[in-house]
Amino acid sequence: MTAQLIDGTALAKKIRVELAGRAAALVARGHRPGLAVVLVGDDPASQVYVRNKVKACADAGVHSVLEKYPEALTENDLLARIDALNRNPVVHGILVQMPLPPHIDPRRVVEAISTQKDVDGYSVLSAGELFAGLPGFRPCTPLGCMKLIETTGVSLVGRHAVVIGRSSTVGKPMALLLLQANATVTICHSMTPDLTQHTRQADVVVTAVGRRNTLTATMVKPGAVVVDVGMNRTDAGQLCGDVDFPGVREVAGWITPVPGGVGPMTISMLLANTIESAERCAR
Ligand code: NAP
Repeated sequence: MTAQLIDGTALAKKIRVELAGRAAALVARGHRPGLAVVLVGDDPASQVYVRNKVKACADAGVHSVLEKYPEALTENDLLARIDALNRNPVVHGILVQMPLPPHIDPRRVVEAISTQKDVDGYSVLSAGELFAGLPGFRPCTPLGCMKLIETTGVSLVGRHAVVIGRSSTVGKPMALLLLQANATVTICHSMTPDLTQHTRQADVVVTAVGRRNTLTATMVKPGAVVVDVGMNRTDAGQLCGDVDFPGVREVAGWITPVPGGVGPMTISMLLANTIESAERCAR
């Protein structure tokens, strides 16, 4: 069996067209959605991520405010900026690009963002809303994975889903979203003694580890849906995921590629959360 490809690039594009329509409807009512992106320091990778986010905003008709600060910015000054953005009515979402310089505590900064504007969904309050099944902003990468799974048409109800990885930004929220969709969920991590024993039984596997070849063909149940969040490099320097793609695609029913799978969905979900925040304000 050769798995069907879950095309994240195509889905992200389609979603961004829909989002541009929602943004235009808000603009027509005098409520232009706005995202503030805060970058501290000059980490080259962060600069690329921030540029991509600002460009995606422009393409979707979302106003963006890019606030760039030198590495030496103090934690108190950053907290004061967040406070000002929390009060700014044209800003509906606030994203602080990680990593922050070592003298700034990222947890204090994330917790300073108003829950109504926490479009990354990283704060303890947003995590609590997800845990309790209350409305709120869900972290963008797991939310994007759910949309990708949705496109397969495979129902999650009563299915066994295995998440490999338990970070607060990807693995844990992913498991909670799958649970909310009525899957039976197993979470695996670096202390799990026999990954294969779990993954072989899974109808859906989501890998969020950061180590290539974590999931190989013999570990996958025939026909399973495989979603690869990982971002790694091959020895030749090419981008790859956690999944042995050539091997696993011969066993799985559905599979996301890397690149072109989960990656493009993350920014789309950031836009979706920002527009939703603006829609709530406009009600
Ligand atoms: P992380 O915080 O480093 O978490 C990695 C998780 O993998 C941990 O829970 C760890 O377990 C687990 N793990 C490590 N080795 C393992 C093993 N041998 N077997 C099973 N589990 C193992 O990373 P993250 O932030 O969640 O990100 C994971 C990957 O996704 C990275 O490659 C990252 O670059 C990528 N990512 C991609 C996107 C995107 O938009 N495409 C977004 C976010 C992240 P312990 O908890 O026991 O240490």
